Amino acid sequence: MHLPTVITLALTTNLTVGLYLYLLYRRKPKDRCFKLWAYSCGCFVLGSALVILRPYPLPALLSFFIADGLLLLAPVFVLAGLVQFSRFRYTRKRRQQAGWALTLGLLLLLLCHQHPGLLSIAAAVTIALTFCLSAGLLQKSIITEPIFTRTLQSVFVLHAGVMFVQAMLVTLNWQQLDLHGLPEASIYTLLSHILLTTLTALLLPWLSFLKLERKLTLKSQRDGLTRLANREHFFNQIERYWRQHPNTPAAFMMLDIDFFKRINDTFGHAVGDKAIAAVARLLSKQLRSNDIIGRVGGEEFAVLLIDIDEQTALKVGQRLCQQVAQQLVWLDEDQVNLTISIGMVHVIPTEHPAMEAVKRADEALYASKQAGRNTVTQASFSTNNMPGDQAIPEPLSYSNTMK
Ligand code: GH3
Ligand code: MG
Ligand code: MG
Repeated sequence: MHLPTVITLALTTNLTVGLYLYLLYRRKPKDRCFKLWAYSCGCFVLGSALVILRPYPLPALLSFFIADGLLLLAPVFVLAGLVQFSRFRYTRKRRQQAGWALTLGLLLLLLCHQHPGLLSIAAAVTIALTFCLSAGLLQKSIITEPIFTRTLQSVFVLHAGVMFVQAMLVTLNWQQLDLHGLPEASIYTLLSHILLTTLTALLLPWLSFLKLERKLTLKSQRDGLTRLANREHFFNQIERYWRQHPNTPAAFMMLDIDFFKRINDTFGHAVGDKAIAAVARLLSKQLRSNDIIGRVGGEEFAVLLIDIDEQTALKVGQRLCQQVAQQLVWLDEDQVNLTISIGMVHVIPTEHPAMEAVKRADEALYASKQAGRNTVTQASFSTNNMPGDQAIPEPLSYSNTMK
């Protein structure tokens, strides 16, 4: 293996990937992770170039401190990009701690930059620690592609290992260090460092595809008007709940806006759309964040109340009817007097198939409409009665002021 060729190839690759990442960032300035990763590639190329220039009479501050500082910043930028990509929100205290750790690392390099051996150990250990942190961070990252997470994590762990070995080699061969502060035996660790950095740089653009995929997936799962789960995504989530929580009781609800056609006819479709969005907002506000909510039809919603008993579920249904009737009397200038009707059924997934629950809730909704609307009907699996038989007879605050 011709070392200068390998190094030139690695640096050219890093430079190209860095440029590519920067172009990605210019196209989408909101995705700051790509800028940080481009900086990482740039730091690595510049730092390595300065290291290569060490045999020439350059000031030690430039070819040692700045060179190793840049090589340390390369993984720091990778780490910062991952934090950005994963949208981790850190407290000010945490950010300050990270700032202090970085300053300390750079100070350490500055203090020992006159001694190449010490400098190599300090640089290798700080780089290794940064890679360990990055590997740990990936564990909590939102990257949903397991192969990608595992590959990048393995690269980080391997890289940290290589850097620790390099620090050890320098310590063990203290007497035979060259002008770079490296023993001859460390040529392989150095080479691995270059190759692993290049591999990381090559893996990072992959994240742009994952990001795009994630955006498209989210878009395909959400309804454009209400931002709630669309019908397909809602039922996928229901299926998953049935699989993952077979013994946790839940309540399945179908909700439908009452006399919606009249709202459209009286106030126009734009107000109709506003009404649908207002009901969706109210549902999201009133329900717990782990309840599953979806817009399953034009002015129809479905909800799975998770881990709930029958009585509480009924109270939640009644509260929803009440809140819609009280809060959605006006939509801007228009007195729309919105109300909803609800049909629901209490289930234990192992005992009641999901589709049967949907059917029962639908029948119960029909019974609510028959009972005068703005009301909740609770169907049951325990009896074979028609759901309408359990209709709560008194509508909550039924008012039909629509003309
Ligand atoms: P009921 O109380 O029996 O539910 O009466 P309804 O008038 O709500 O009856 P129906 O379910 O038949 O009417 C639903 C109407 O909702 C019909 C359709 O024109 C309208 N619609 C469906 N999707 C949308 C939408 O996205 N925006 C608007 N503005 N209207 C919609
Ligand atoms: Mg309807
Ligand atoms: Mg309706």
